Amino acid sequence: MRLIMLGPPGAGKGTQAARLAERLGVPQLSTGDMLRAVVAKGSLVGLAARDVMARGELVGDDIVVNSVLECIAEPGAASGFILDGFPRTLGQARALDEALEQARLGLDAVLELKVVEAVLLDRIIYRAREAKAAGQRVRSDDNPEALKVRLEAYQTQTQPLADYYRTAGLLHTVDGLMPIDQVTSSLFAELRLLTPVAGSLHLTGDI
Ligand code: AMP
Repeated sequence: MRLIMLGPPGAGKGTQAARLAERLGVPQLSTGDMLRAVVAKGSLVGLAARDVMARGELVGDDIVVNSVLECIAEPGAASGFILDGFPRTLGQARALDEALEQARLGLDAVLELKVVEAVLLDRIIYRAREAKAAGQRVRSDDNPEALKVRLEAYQTQTQPLADYYRTAGLLHTVDGLMPIDQVTSSLFAELRLLTPVAGSLHLTGDI
C-alpha cells in the first residue's frame, strides 16, 4: 500500500506510521529523519538545513523532493511505503503525483490525524522530556518557540493538502486525541474500507 500520514507536529504521525509500516510490511519514510541524518553528516546541504529546522521552518522543496523520490524508487518500496512528514507543501504533493503517475502507480490513502492545537505543545514538551530522561538527544526544534513556527508552517503550507487530497478522494481523517492503540485501530479500520483485497490480505484482526 502507498500511504501518506498527514497531521501537525506532535499529532503522532511517526508513532502511527511505524505501527502501520510494521503491520503492512512496507518502509516508513520519514523526511524529518532523513533530514536529521543529513544534518548529522555535516554536509553543505546539512548545514543549510540545520538552522532552518531548528527555527521550525520548512526546508526547500528541492532538497526534500529528490530524497523522497529516490527512496520510493528503491526496491524496498516496490510493494508500498508510508510517507511520514511528506508532502508538506502543494509543490511537494504535485511532484509526488507526477513521479507516481510516470511510474504508473497511485496512492491508496492519505491518513490525516486531527489534534487540537492546545494539546500539541504539551505533547512536544513531553516528548522532549522523555528523550532527555532516556539519555537521548533532544530535538533542536522541540521547544515552544520553534513549535510556534512549525504550527504556522503547518497551517499555511501543509493544511491545504487536506483539501487537495479530499478532492482526489483519498483523505481519511482520524481523531488523533484518542489513546495511541485506539488511533491505530481506527487507522486500520479506515484501511479495511479501502478495498476488499486490503481487508483480506494484510489487515485482518485488531491491534
Ligand atoms: P518532523 O520530524 O517531520 O517533525 O520534521 C522536522 C523538521 O524537518 C520540520 O520542521 C522541517 O524543518 C523539516 N522537514 C521535514 N519534512 C519536511 C518536508 N516534507 N518539507 C520541508 N521540510 C521538512
